[in-house]
Amino acid sequence: MSDVFPSMPAGTVTGNRGLVVEEPLLFEQGSPGGSGVDLPEPRDLPDALGGFRRTGPIGLPGLSEPQVVRHYTRLSQKNYSIDAGFYPLGSCTMKYNPRLNEKVARLTGLGDLHPFQPVSTVQGALAAMDALAAWLMELTGMAGVAMSPAAGAHGELCGLMTIRAAQEAKGNPRKIILVPESAHGTNPASAALCGYSVVAIPATEDGRVDIAALQEKLSEDVAGIMLTNPNTCGLFERDVRQIAEMVHAAGAFFYMDGANFNALIGRVKIADLGVDAMHINLHKTFSTPHGGGGPGAGPTVLSPALAAFAPLPFVRKSGDAYELVETRAQAGKKAQPFGRMKGFHGQFGVMLRALAYAMSLGADGLRQTSGDAVLNANYLLARLKDVLTAPFEGPCMHEALFDDGFLKDTGVTTLDFAKALIDEGYHPMTMYFPLVVHGALLMEPTESESKQTLDLFVETVRALAAKARAGEADFFHAAPRLTPRRRLDETLAARKPVLRWKPQEN
Ligand SMILES: *Cc1c(COP(=O)(O)O)cnc(C)c1O
Repeated sequence: MSDVFPSMPAGTVTGNRGLVVEEPLLFEQGSPGGSGVDLPEPRDLPDALGGFRRTGPIGLPGLSEPQVVRHYTRLSQKNYSIDAGFYPLGSCTMKYNPRLNEKVARLTGLGDLHPFQPVSTVQGALAAMDALAAWLMELTGMAGVAMSPAAGAHGELCGLMTIRAAQEAKGNPRKIILVPESAHGTNPASAALCGYSVVAIPATEDGRVDIAALQEKLSEDVAGIMLTNPNTCGLFERDVRQIAEMVHAAGAFFYMDGANFNALIGRVKIADLGVDAMHINLHKTFSTPHGGGGPGAGPTVLSPALAAFAPLPFVRKSGDAYELVETRAQAGKKAQPFGRMKGFHGQFGVMLRALAYAMSLGADGLRQTSGDAVLNANYLLARLKDVLTAPFEGPCMHEALFDDGFLKDTGVTTLDFAKALIDEGYHPMTMYFPLVVHGALLMEPTESESKQTLDLFVETVRALAAKARAGEADFFHAAPRLTPRRRLDETLAARKPVLRWKPQEN
C-alpha cells in the first residue's frame, strides 16, 4: 500500500491494475496553494459586495493542470460507450453515430449560432430545421411536426398537451389516458404530468394489447391511448389499426410512442396506422450520442386533427424566406398553438445530426436500416433461443426478448448473468424490463453491428448459459471480477450516496 495515498486499495503498490488507474477524489489529491494558473494577488476591493464578500477559504483543491486533465480523462475512460464496444440495450436504440453528423453539427455558421441572432442572419439554420421537418413528415406521412421537444418523454408531453388542447377545443378535456402494461415508464409519467389519470390495459398471452380489455376501458372520459409499436416486447402490435378505430370511435386520440421507429423506418407510414401523434427520438433512430442522458430531441409528428394545436415556435416558409413564428398573433388564424414547450427553438445540434444522418443515408439507406436492425435482432433470437428461453413464439422486430426460465433452479439470476457479461467486455442488455415477463433480458443489437460481433456475443452468452446450468452459481455471484468496482449496493447508492472516496475491499 502506498504511503502517498494511504487510502488506496491494496494489491499492487499503487492500487492500480494494469492501466486501470485508481485515484482518490480531487479534494484528496489537492494540496493547499497548488494551482494550475497564476492569479494576481486580489486587490482590496471596496465593499461593493457587501455581506456577500467571502471571508475565508472555501476549500477548493489546489491542483496543477496535468492533475486535472488526467483526472477527467480517466473518468471519461471509465464510461462505457458505443464507440468502445457492443451495447445491446433493449428499449433504447444505441447505435453507431457516424462522425459525419458531428462534423456537420460543428460547422462554423451552424455550431456558433446564437438563439438571439436576427432571423435574417440564420436563414440557413431555419432551412435546415425545415428540411428535417419535411423528412420526418415524409417518413411518417403525418400532417405536421412540433420540432421543439427536447427528448422522447418531452415529445410525449407535447403530444398529450396537443391532445388536451384539441379535446378542450371540442368542449371537454376528458380525464383518462389508457396505457398498456408493457409501456415504457415515461408514458404513464407523461400522462400524469399532463394532469390525466392513467388506466392500464393488460397484455395477452402473446405479448400484445388485449383488445377486449381495451374495449371495456374506453369511455367518454378517455382522452387517448399511448401505445408503443413495436411494443417493448419487441413485437409488432398486429391489431394496431383496429385499436386506432376503436379509440377514434370513442372520441379519443391515438398517441404512438415512436421510440422504436428504428424498426419501422422506410417501411410503415405511421399515418396509415391511424396515429394522431408520435414522438421520434432523434437521438435513437437518427443517431446522436446519448449515453449518460443527453442531449436528445423528440420532434412530435401530428395528424390533421392535431396539427393546428402544435406548440410555438415553428418555422414557416414565406416566399424564399424562412420566418420563425414565436407568438400566437404571428401564428395566424388557422393555427391555435397550445403554448410553448421549451426556451428558444429546440435542440438544434441534434436536429443537424439527424438531418446529416437522413441525407447521407437517403431514403433507400434509411429503409435498409430498419431491415438490418430487424434481421440482426432475429439472428440473436434464432441463435440463442435454444439456450435462453423466449417467452413469445415467432420472429421479433428490432429487439429480442428472453425471460429467466433458463436460469430456473440454477441459483443464478438475470442480474448475476448480466454481471458476468461485464467481465466478458459487454455492456449488458436491458434487464427486468419489460415487466410483463419474468426476469427479462431484452437485447437490441441494432443495424450497425457486424455478424462477427454478433457471433462473438452469441458464443459468450451460450457459454455463460452452459456454465449456469452446470451448477457454477458461485462464479456468477462473484461477478464482475475484472472491473474497477465490484458489485455495489445500488439501492443504498441511490438512497444514501457516499460522495467521498473510500477504500473498498477487493
Ligand atoms: C427511450 C424511450 C422513451 C423515452 O425517451 P427519452 O428520449 O429517453 O425521454 C420512451 N419510450 C420508449 C419505448 C423508449 O424506448
